[in-house]
Amino acid sequence: MGLDKYVHTLGNYMKGQYGSKIHKLTIDASFTCPNRDGSLGRGGCTFCNVSSFSREFGSQKSVAEQLAQGKQRRGENKRYMAYFQAYTSTYDEYQVLKRRYQEAVTVSDIIGLCVGTRPDCVPDDVLDLLVEYQQQGMEVWLELGLQSAHDATLKRINRGHGWAEYEDTVRRARARGLKVCTHLIMGLPGEGAEEAFTTLDKVLEVGVDGLKLHPLHVVQNSTMAKQLAAGRLALMQADAYMDIAAEMIRRTPTSVIYHRVSAYAKPPELIAPEWCSDKWLALNGIIERLKRDGGQGSALTN
Ligand code: SF4
Repeated sequence: MGLDKYVHTLGNYMKGQYGSKIHKLTIDASFTCPNRDGSLGRGGCTFCNVSSFSREFGSQKSVAEQLAQGKQRRGENKRYMAYFQAYTSTYDEYQVLKRRYQEAVTVSDIIGLCVGTRPDCVPDDVLDLLVEYQQQGMEVWLELGLQSAHDATLKRINRGHGWAEYEDTVRRARARGLKVCTHLIMGLPGEGAEEAFTTLDKVLEVGVDGLKLHPLHVVQNSTMAKQLAAGRLALMQADAYMDIAAEMIRRTPTSVIYHRVSAYAKPPELIAPEWCSDKWLALNGIIERLKRDGGQGSALTN
């Protein structure tokens, strides 16, 4: 698609490691989230609508069943990562987590795990468990939702954690040799280019192995949908997002793997901005900018 020419993408990395494309199969393993179940709060992050998570096969199905169906849809002779994406996929009893992860890794053609979670829900024993899979030769990624490195923003969007929890978890994970991919959202309330660049600087300074960039988009049933309807939320324009994302990539060392540089959603789930319904718009715009100004790492001075 062209992005690989300018960016160290996950696709590139996987091909280099495994010799062919590795597909991600998304799993909803029936976990919950402390920011929704009352432990921390009930409203959740203001951008969150849990139905926006993939529920292709429904949480009533077991991990193995979901993976089997995902494999069936994609055809024969392929290899996969099991992607625990929905809610907070490290938020349960240790033995429950172990059963769910184990169920995934024992399915044939699964070569690894990607576990998405919040930075304040990753105790040492869970990190050690993930390290065990890595030591067995599996590809393992811990995906942390940070969104912004600014505590004021995190408070504004009701994340229920701050930068400190992120920093602590990244350090503990990376000290064990686990790869961390950090999820960032551009255009959060009160944030523009400078805040995004500061977030990137802080994330890079602590150390990270992968990044996912995402424009803020408002989905049904979120707190932000109400804020938008009340005229209390301004959204980023497409050009601004493409400029910021491209510049962030240019400021990122080539050793960091980009898992994603944009995201899209479809109405009616997507309320705004409308440009986020176009799967290719932001991606193509970012590629154009990288082609014009230089690819990943080209803005680094040393
Ligand atoms: S975005 Fe994640 S952490 Fe925030 S409320 Fe939703 S599931 Fe919980």
